[in-house]
Amino acid sequence: MDIETLRGSFTGRLLTDAADMAPFLTDWRGKWTGQALAVAQPRDTEGVAAIVRWCHSHGVPVVPQGGNTGLSGGATPDASGRALVLSLVRLDRIRSVDAVTNTIEVEAGATLQRVQEAAREAGRLFPLSLAAEGSCTLGGNLATNAGGVQVLRYGNARELCLGLEVVTADGSVWSALRRLRKDNTGYDLRDLYIGSEGTLGVITAAVLKLFPLPKAQAVAFVAVPSPRAAVELLQLAQEQLSSSLTAFELMSDTCLALVERHVPSARLPLPERSPWYVLMEVSEAQEGERASAGLQALLELAFDQGLATDAALSASLAQFQSLWALREDISESQGAEGPTIKHDISLPISRIADFIESTDAALAQAFPETRLVVFGHVGDGNLHYNLSPAAGDATPERRDRFKSLEEPINRLVHDAVIAHEGSISAEHGLGVLRREEAALYKSPIELQLMRAIKQALDPRGLMNPGKSIGD
Ligand code: FAD
Repeated sequence: MDIETLRGSFTGRLLTDAADMAPFLTDWRGKWTGQALAVAQPRDTEGVAAIVRWCHSHGVPVVPQGGNTGLSGGATPDASGRALVLSLVRLDRIRSVDAVTNTIEVEAGATLQRVQEAAREAGRLFPLSLAAEGSCTLGGNLATNAGGVQVLRYGNARELCLGLEVVTADGSVWSALRRLRKDNTGYDLRDLYIGSEGTLGVITAAVLKLFPLPKAQAVAFVAVPSPRAAVELLQLAQEQLSSSLTAFELMSDTCLALVERHVPSARLPLPERSPWYVLMEVSEAQEGERASAGLQALLELAFDQGLATDAALSASLAQFQSLWALREDISESQGAEGPTIKHDISLPISRIADFIESTDAALAQAFPETRLVVFGHVGDGNLHYNLSPAAGDATPERRDRFKSLEEPINRLVHDAVIAHEGSISAEHGLGVLRREEAALYKSPIELQLMRAIKQALDPRGLMNPGKSIGD
């Protein structure tokens, strides 16, 4: 097979030089590196279709890639060098906004931030929001069913998507860019492609829901004594603030200490340290003081009930942003500290405190040389239950020993997740990271149904093979 026969068949770039391809062959964490036959960057849907048809007729595996910020290795090719990386970042137009239907149509390679900005220019909110938003793409968000910090109020990527355009595994274009909130006409193919991590087809465009822009927002950074108190505070906040509550994030003091160490501008807004903190955001449709007044009233109740010990409220946009930055800088700060073992888990909210108490204790006993770095979207029952080597453990031998603990630690944590009726992947997908483990925990019938879907939509098994769970 001659890769040059592909070059003239689409508009865009085809990279075959090793140095040009390198940035597309390693994931964001630097955890996985692969090889590829080529990296293709088409400019339009027809180009994507032409590339996939070429791959289909030559038996070449296709690895779709967006912003390459995924945390499960789903966008990295394997080591064989047989696959083609299909990078969508040049397919990035904002196609249209329908202000009456409250929808926006965008191409898969548009970054999440650009989509948010385009919505804002039209006087609307596109609420999906996560720390990688400057680089991750809408196609990647949909392929991983991304979550982020506003799921509590607006839902995850799946809930924000009305229509899709997909290049199927054989290179056909399925255009279903519908703007309908109600459509019960058979199996929901859209929902199959969302969250399929590039293993069923390539998402080339989507119609997304828009919302009114909030007129006023405020955030509170709250010291809480324990995760149990945080969950009780969440209930109180939902009672008091109802749908005005747009985010509810939990962070341990260890997380904040890492941010302070690695981000020079970071400052904790409270005089005393606390073992845990909550970041709560309120959004209001009306201008004025209602957002901060609502938070203040809630905090008074929380102090009275012993659920919070101190709090700082944003009084300006700059403060709002710097309080959010403390939460958003945790991932990168943990990475800067050294090797990490990450768990993106979800639990029924009522089980979170029990899970943290018992699993923290079990880890401390079995692996005393580790340090827990726990934070997450507690309002959605989603924890990033991560580990780093114990503080000061910087020798290469100790780091190697830490890395060798990944498998037994995963088993301990994920067995506890399943015992608490949770999921081992809340928002990052399975990729290669969780593929084998998911197969362990899923029932035979669920695996059989998933494999039947993969077989039906990608019978030659060329779409992102070895990722997620279908093959
Ligand atoms: P990529 O990493 O390029 O790809 C991810 C997967 O999607 C791969 O399997 C790939 O094959 C597939 N894919 C990509 N584009 C397409 C397409 N057009 N069609 C079909 N398949 C495709 N995630 C969250 O959910 N919530 C968070 O809060 C969050 N925070 C993060 C913070 C940081 C600092 C970082 C680095 C990542 C974070 N992530 C988070 C993970 C990541 O940003 C998301 O998974 C994001 O949705 C991935 O988008 P991407 O464009 O980078 O996809």
